[in-house]
Amino acid sequence: MTHRLGSLCDEHYPPPRSIQQSAHVKSMEEYRLLYEESISQPEKFWKKLAENLYFKDPPGSGEDFLNYNFDANAGPISIQWMRTSSTNICYNALDYNVEKGLGDKVAFYWEGNHPNDEASITYQALLEEVCKFSNVLLKLGVKKGDKVAICLPMVVELVIAMLACTRIGAIHSIVFGGFSAGSLAERITDAKCTIIITADGVWRGKKLIHLKAIVDDAIERCVKAGFPVNQCVVLKHLPRVTSAVDVGVGNDISQVGWKQDRDLWWHDIMKDASPKCPVEWINGEDPLFMLFTSGSTGKPKGVMHTLAGYMLYSWATFKYSFDYQEDDVFWCTADIGWITGHTYVTYGPLLNGSTSVLFEGVPYYPDPGRFWAVIDKYKVSKFYTSPTAIRTLMKHGEAEVRKYSRSSLKILATVGEPINPEAWHWYNHVVGEDRCPIVDTFWQTETGGHVITPLPGATVTKPGSATFPFFGVVPAILDDNGAELSGECEGFLVFKKPWPGIMRTVYGDHERFERTYFRKFPGYYCTGDGARRDKDGYIWVTGRIDDMLNVSGHLLSTAEVESALVEDPCVAEAAAVAHPHPIKGECLYCFVTPVDGIPYTDKLEKELRDKVREKIGPFAVPDYLQYAPSLPKTRSGKIMRRILRKIAQSDPDLGDTSTLADESIVVLLQKNRVATA
Ligand code: ATP
Ligand code: MG
Repeated sequence: MTHRLGSLCDEHYPPPRSIQQSAHVKSMEEYRLLYEESISQPEKFWKKLAENLYFKDPPGSGEDFLNYNFDANAGPISIQWMRTSSTNICYNALDYNVEKGLGDKVAFYWEGNHPNDEASITYQALLEEVCKFSNVLLKLGVKKGDKVAICLPMVVELVIAMLACTRIGAIHSIVFGGFSAGSLAERITDAKCTIIITADGVWRGKKLIHLKAIVDDAIERCVKAGFPVNQCVVLKHLPRVTSAVDVGVGNDISQVGWKQDRDLWWHDIMKDASPKCPVEWINGEDPLFMLFTSGSTGKPKGVMHTLAGYMLYSWATFKYSFDYQEDDVFWCTADIGWITGHTYVTYGPLLNGSTSVLFEGVPYYPDPGRFWAVIDKYKVSKFYTSPTAIRTLMKHGEAEVRKYSRSSLKILATVGEPINPEAWHWYNHVVGEDRCPIVDTFWQTETGGHVITPLPGATVTKPGSATFPFFGVVPAILDDNGAELSGECEGFLVFKKPWPGIMRTVYGDHERFERTYFRKFPGYYCTGDGARRDKDGYIWVTGRIDDMLNVSGHLLSTAEVESALVEDPCVAEAAAVAHPHPIKGECLYCFVTPVDGIPYTDKLEKELRDKVREKIGPFAVPDYLQYAPSLPKTRSGKIMRRILRKIAQSDPDLGDTSTLADESIVVLLQKNRVATA
C-alpha cells in the first residue's frame, strides 16, 4: 500500500534557521538523544524536567516515581506517576511565577467576540482573582475532592474558576458552553457535581446563547434524576460586552431566570472575598480534573487526569512542541471546554509563564479575516488551531489573509484531525509565507498532551504527517492479530508505555477504561486511530479505526480519499464513509462540500472520480457522491463520520447525537441521500 504515499513521503520541510538557532532542541540528533533517555531512563529524564516545577514533597524514586500495569491479562490497569509527591498546579501556574518576578507580565490578552471588547490580566492580578474565588468556593462549602461543574464562555473568569478549584483541591469538570440542556445534565450527573458555575449568556458570532436558561433547564433535569445541584454561581457577562450588530428589538439580554435559594451572582460573592488564600498541597496522584471526549466515535467518555503527571506533561509539551520562548505571545484558538483548551490555553502556557490570547469569538465574525486581525493586534508568535478552521478559512480565499501582515508569526500548529496536505500547504504558504514550521500535533483527551509531534527547531516535516513521538512516548503499529509491524507498515496505532500525562481512568467506570483502551491488544494502550509508518520512520495518522474501509481487499483510510477529493480546487470539504457492497465487500460513499459560489454538477462529480482514480487507484473510486452544503460536526469541529455512515445506509438510528453541532444538516443530508444498490 505504501506506494500510494510515495510522492508525499519525499516532500521535506527542514526547520527554518531562524527558529533552529534559538530552539530548545536544535537537531534530530539532539531530539534522538533526549528521546532515548526518556525511554531508557524515564525517572532520570522526567525528574530533571520536574525541577522546573515546585513540589512540596519531592517526586519520589523507583516505584514511587513510576508504577504501572498496562497488561489487562495481568490484573487491573493502573498508572501512577510520583504517587508520594505533593504539589499544586495553581501554585505552579501563578504563585511560583509571581515569586520568580513575572507578577507584572501579562498572562492573558482577552479578545471578545466583538472586536471592540478587550482586556488583559497580569500574573499578579490573576493570582489575586483566583485567591478570591478560591475563598468563595470554600465559603460555599466546596472541599478537597468535590466536583465542580463549570460552563462558562471563553472569558478570564473561566480560567479563574478552574484554577480556584485546583488551588483548594476540588476537581473541575468543564462543559463546553454550547451544549443542549439534556447533554449538560447528563455530564453534570455523570461527574456528580453539586455546584455549577456559569454566566448569563454569550455571543458567538451573531448568535446569542442564553447560557443561564440552558443551565436552569439542565439543573432541573439533574434534580429530577435525583442529583441535587444546589448552588449555581452566575457571572454577569452580557451587559459588559458589545452585542453583535443584529440584536433584534425586544431581545432583552438582561433577563435571566433566578432561583433565590440556589443562584448567586459572581460579582456579589466576590465583593468582599480576600485576595489571599493558602494553597492546599495535594497528592501527586489525586484527581485534578475530569473532561468528556468530543464524541466523534460514540458516547463521550469522562476522562480522569491526575495532578503531578498531567502538570509535568502539560508543562513539557508546551515548552518543547511550541518551542516556548519568553517573549512569545501564544494563541490557541480551542475552547477551554475541550482538552486542547485545558492543556494549551490554561495549564501549559501558565506553567511556563507565557503570555497568551484568550479568544471568545469565532473565526468568521465579523468577517473571515478575524484570526489574522487578532494575530496582528497582539503580535502573536505561536498560533495553534485546527484543520477544520484552516479549511473553513481557505474557502474564503487568500485575499482575506493577505490583508494582514502576520509578520509576528513564528510557528503554526494544528490539532484535532488529520490535516490533509492541501490544507497543510495553504497554512504553510499562505498564512506562514513559508517561514513558519508547521507543527501537526497528534493527541487525544486521554493522552493529556501531545504524543506524536514535530519539534519546530529539530524535525524535518512532511505535509500530513505528525512525524515522531514526544519524549516518553513509545508508539507501535499493530496488525489485526496484535503483532507489532516493523518498517513501512499500516495498522492500529498503540502505545507501549505510559507517559506522565496519560489518563488514569474513565470517571466512575474503570471497567469501561480497560475495555476501551486495553482489552483489544493486551499490554498496549490502544488509541483507536490507524497509522502508517513510511520508509523514513515518519508516522502518518490516517483516522479512526472505525472509519477504515476494505474495498475489494484493499484497506483504505477515509483521510486518504478525503485528501484526494479536497485537492480539487472546487472542493472545500469532503467526508468519505464505508458503505456495504455486494461484490466489493465495502465501497465508498462520499459527501462533498464545494467552495463558496461553485455549483455542484455532474461534471464536478466526474472530475472528482478521476482525481481519486489518479491519486489512489481505480479500486478507491467512490461509488456514490452526494452534495453536502455542510457536514455534520462535533461541537469541537470534527467531522462525524459515524453519523454520515448511518445517513448513507439510511439507518434512522443515529446513536448519541449530544455532541452534534447542528442537527439540521443531518436532516437535509438524509433527505437528499443518493439511492444505493
Ligand atoms: P471520542 O473519543 O468521544 O470519539 P474524539 O476522539 O474526537 O471523541 P478527542 O479526544 O478530542 O475526542 O480527539 C482525539 C482524536 O482526534 C484522536 O484520536 C484522532 O482521531 C484525532 N486527532 C487529533 N489530533 C490529530 C492529528 N494531529 N492528526 C490526526 N488525527 C488527530
Ligand atoms: Mg477519542
